[in-house]
Amino acid sequence: MPKDLAFIGGKTVAIEDAKVGIMTHALHYGTAIFEGIRANWNEDKSKLFIFRPWEHYERFLQGCSILKIEIPYDVEALCRITVDLVEECGYRQDLYIRPLAFKSAQKIANLKLHELDDEFALMTVPFGNYLDLEGGARCCTSSWRRMEDTMIPPRVKIAGLYVNSILAKTEAVMAGFDEAIMLNNDGNVSEGTGENIFMVVKGQIITPPSSDNILMGITRNTIAQLVQQEMGLEVVERTIKRSELYLADEVFLTGTAAHLTPVGHIDNRPIADGEIGPIGSQLINLYSDVIRGKNPKYEHWCLPASPKLV
Ligand code: PMP
Repeated sequence: MPKDLAFIGGKTVAIEDAKVGIMTHALHYGTAIFEGIRANWNEDKSKLFIFRPWEHYERFLQGCSILKIEIPYDVEALCRITVDLVEECGYRQDLYIRPLAFKSAQKIANLKLHELDDEFALMTVPFGNYLDLEGGARCCTSSWRRMEDTMIPPRVKIAGLYVNSILAKTEAVMAGFDEAIMLNNDGNVSEGTGENIFMVVKGQIITPPSSDNILMGITRNTIAQLVQQEMGLEVVERTIKRSELYLADEVFLTGTAAHLTPVGHIDNRPIADGEIGPIGSQLINLYSDVIRGKNPKYEHWCLPASPKLV
């Protein structure tokens, strides 16, 4: 049987023993940085492939720097701890890996980041599809706007920032949609609640720039490279208006959890014929091999882990 373990306080413990106190600052104020990383099972090689952990941990440490969270690990150390935990747990299936750096101080009436202690924790859970869909996702434009950099910087994964995504996602799902697309304060398309967005117009692949309040997604970067290197198509970063999405040939969402998810409808309007488009479906296949260590050209993006037989 695989074991559910967590790394916290510098050591590995059973998940039920990884606890924090009720006065933990991060619980009250969202003062934490997190990441979402996938480890993908490759049956032929009998290994898990952790996808682009270096880039995830670089972004993680950038977030820590913004929130003044100090942890005693660099990217290489974080990758080593991750491989060790994944191997120790012994799961032989797709996993979601959650690193969390947080203000662990038991101080509830203190808003000064520099006066608060920090902790690092890591956990992993079996994880299949995030948006389990048949055909394209049905999306709506959210009534919630994407957070501005002048409010809480959306370029890093600050726990408290995710209330913004959670409000939008909840509103969308309770109204019968699969996912929400958020506009920024200027009314331009920003991203999904946990995904970046792309549209295809006349063979050109277009995605919003960082200045439109997006998280600089690692899947976004992966897809952009695959589009250029494997399909010879141009990727353009530019501001997108809401109505351009309605008229696009294809729209898709990208994220570690969501992989590449084609969008079939937005605000009850079909995107082209409402079916999954040719570029999206080609990318789904390419991406699925790349993240499972099945494409030698991109194996350098994968960190292998051999789960212990338990
Ligand atoms: N935007 C938001 C708001 C997200 O939470 C995520 C998931 N991390 C993404 C985009 C996609 O980023 P990535 O491809 O690095 O997972």
